[in-house]
Amino acid sequence: MKSFKHFDAESVEEAVALLTEYGTRARVTAGGTDLLGVLKSEILADYPEALINLKTISGLDGIEADKREVTIGALTRLAEVADSPLVKNSCPALALSAASVGSPELRNMGTIGGNLCQDTRCWYYRYPDKMGGRVSCYRKGKGPCHAIKGDNRYHAVLEGRKCFAVCPSDVAVALAALQARVKTVSRAGERTIPLANLYDALGTVLAQDELITWILIPTPSANAVQRFLKFRLRGSVDFAVVSVAAVLDMAEGVCRDACIVLGAVAPTPYRAVGAENILRGRALDGQLAAQAAQAALKDAKPLSRNAYKIEIAKTLVERVLQL
Ligand SMILES: Cc1cc2nc3c(=O)[nH]c(=O)nc-3n(C[C@H](O)[C@H](O)[C@H](O)COP(=O)(O)OP(=O)(O)OC[C@H]3O[C@@H](n4cnc5c(N)ncnc54)[C@H](O)[C@@H]3O)c2cc1C
Repeated sequence: MKSFKHFDAESVEEAVALLTEYGTRARVTAGGTDLLGVLKSEILADYPEALINLKTISGLDGIEADKREVTIGALTRLAEVADSPLVKNSCPALALSAASVGSPELRNMGTIGGNLCQDTRCWYYRYPDKMGGRVSCYRKGKGPCHAIKGDNRYHAVLEGRKCFAVCPSDVAVALAALQARVKTVSRAGERTIPLANLYDALGTVLAQDELITWILIPTPSANAVQRFLKFRLRGSVDFAVVSVAAVLDMAEGVCRDACIVLGAVAPTPYRAVGAENILRGRALDGQLAAQAAQAALKDAKPLSRNAYKIEIAKTLVERVLQL
């Protein structure tokens, strides 16, 4: 690690003021489980001069609910999200996604805000500087996406264009299916961003001085059935090869509405609108689930080594629809 200035922010305003003062030479840190790896591997051209610790800000963690929505502070640890009776009861897909992140140590340190903002795990992008020099690529602003011609086993099969790295966040998949929004603060003031719009092909759309403060989840209907499934190579600790979250509004076996989101198949959490259209208004059985799974992946275009992800994704969609 190189040396840097370290600030314990006491308020969101102080953190935003420091981000303004240091500009692109500053980074915020919450649990640090992703950021410290990024710094140690020196994958970014600009090593930050200042780190601003958010965990010293009080009142930005915790989980609350009223009739309208469930509200989660950005600094709430993933373990708390996974274990919260409130979340398990009203947003079980989110609890399952948080429980699937990494290992107990990572969930005890990592925060829900940090999980949403973590950097991609693409192995070209994250290639450590100390192993022969960092790799430039499209995502870093210079050069092609090496996954296109290289080893693309874990890259996007949907919506990849110039960068095929996938969004690594498990909780983003569940939050997108729950139609959550994030509340943010920056120099420009507060705004609320639907989770579905939080990412573009190169990461989050947050401004350099913008912090996530709260996650807002509309209270799911009493008929909602929620599912989250993740396929990973190592059961004990691993990122998703593919994940899927589904929120289904069911009445007497008929699917009145559906929101299905796939993770790790595209640069952003991927809303499977084709599958939702097939399900809406129809009695859900095995045959319909198989049709929905086909529809979910109908636009998939594999690279040379990742067609297998399409079959896994179809299987996961079929499985989440087995109620
Ligand atoms: C071995 C290993 C396995 C992992 N497995 C998984 C997995 O299976 N699934 C998964 O989803 N993740 C996984 N992760 C990633 C891990 O979940 C994230 O590292 C963690 O959730 C990030 O939270 P954090 O609070 O530690 O973030 P930090 O490392 O502190 O920050 C991550 C990024 O978010 C920014 N940031 C943090 N908080 C905010 C905020 N409130 N507003 C704006 N920006 C913010 C930081 O500047 C930084 O860029 C794994 C990580 C490791 C090292």
